[in-house]
Amino acid sequence: MALIVQKYGGTSVADIERINNVAKRVKATRDEGHQVVVVVSARSGVTNALVTRAKTLNSKPDEREMDLLLSVGEQETIALTTIALHALGVPAVSRTGAQAGIRTDYSHTKARILDIHGGDIPEHIRNNTVVIVAGFQGISTEGQITTLGRGGSDLSAIALAKVLQADLCQIYTDVEGVFSADPRIVHDAQKIDAICTEEMHELASVGFKVMQARAVELAGKYNVPFEVRSSFNNNPGTLVKADIPGMEDVLVRGVAVAKNQTKITAKELPDVPGVATVLFKALEDVMVDMIIQNTGAEGRANLTFTVAKEDASKAHAKVTEALEVLGSGTAEITGDVAKVSVVGLGMQSHAGVAARFFEALSQANVNIDMITTSEIKISVAIDPTQTNDAVQAVHNAFNLNESPHVQ
Ligand code: ADP
Ligand code: ASP
Ligand code: MG
Repeated sequence: MALIVQKYGGTSVADIERINNVAKRVKATRDEGHQVVVVVSARSGVTNALVTRAKTLNSKPDEREMDLLLSVGEQETIALTTIALHALGVPAVSRTGAQAGIRTDYSHTKARILDIHGGDIPEHIRNNTVVIVAGFQGISTEGQITTLGRGGSDLSAIALAKVLQADLCQIYTDVEGVFSADPRIVHDAQKIDAICTEEMHELASVGFKVMQARAVELAGKYNVPFEVRSSFNNNPGTLVKADIPGMEDVLVRGVAVAKNQTKITAKELPDVPGVATVLFKALEDVMVDMIIQNTGAEGRANLTFTVAKEDASKAHAKVTEALEVLGSGTAEITGDVAKVSVVGLGMQSHAGVAARFFEALSQANVNIDMITTSEIKISVAIDPTQTNDAVQAVHNAFNLNESPHVQ
């Protein structure tokens, strides 16, 4: 008998039929003799619809109120899933994040989990009752409802699996696992049977939205292996764990895309120490991604950086303000970009990955706007209209459409 944490995402609980399907899967797992704790998301589209409603009323809604509003989506699905399980004769109870004792800090809309008390979940597990926990939400040290950032039900599941010392954590979604690229963009993308947590974390951070990056980070930190698989069939999914055999042999494990990025350029900056400090201090509460600086004529520099599209006007205003204080330079929103990244542990020990990446882009006639690298990742910013061509070309260049890959 194993204790299994199963997380079902938005599309897996999208309507009554699918909620019934989830209840049947949970029952089947229990009938095999296992104990099950379930984490569910809001029905797909519900969280977005709630955000839109709030923003129709107020373009800058209060974050505490947003958390109160968004937590409603998951509360609907815990109750409906529990009701469906009762109809199948399975003893089950639903618990909100607060009832499950998921204690967080007070950074509304992106709260961090501090600890999980578990409430009465262990007792229910002992009594063989299925517990259905609302993903994505917790309760702050001040007793306020918080949410864990978009895609945060993954984080709830990993954290619960750790705290309950589950034998298995399964992330059920609408694809059969983690693929070498988003299967909705690259039709010959291959399912990855096993991937190490470090690569998965990097890929999730740069666009593999099949898992929330913070959830993978937590899984790595606390050594929680998990499996990403489909809720629509019984095919094996992708195993994500600390070590996999030959994990450094593959140069590039996947090609990821992040759209919705905007470029901002600060022009005519004095090329002297301290200028970048002034700019980025002003941007302290904005997530800045790629940064490049080039020195032009007469000791003047241009500095370009990217931020999420939704943060662009805030970032622009902050930089403009900082430049006014500096008494020099102007800032301009210079357009949208998409970020395409290749990730692979094998890059650390093999040369030539960048050349192959850039060659694939040039053959697809894609111009590179900016470049950043880390030990196991290379990212480029490109024209967003060329995203699909770029990803497909890079995917082919590293033979990711072949299984097993010959790189
Ligand atoms: P859930 O609602 O189950 O949490 P998400 O929509 O958050 O599901 O994540 C699943 C989606 O992630 C898939 O439908 C797919 O389009 C997207 N995705 C992006 N990159 C990948 C990838 N490399 N492998 C699998 N899915 C990916
Ligand atoms: N419902 C939340 C979202 O859409 C959390 C999740 O689905 O994981 O982001
Ligand atoms: Mg998700």
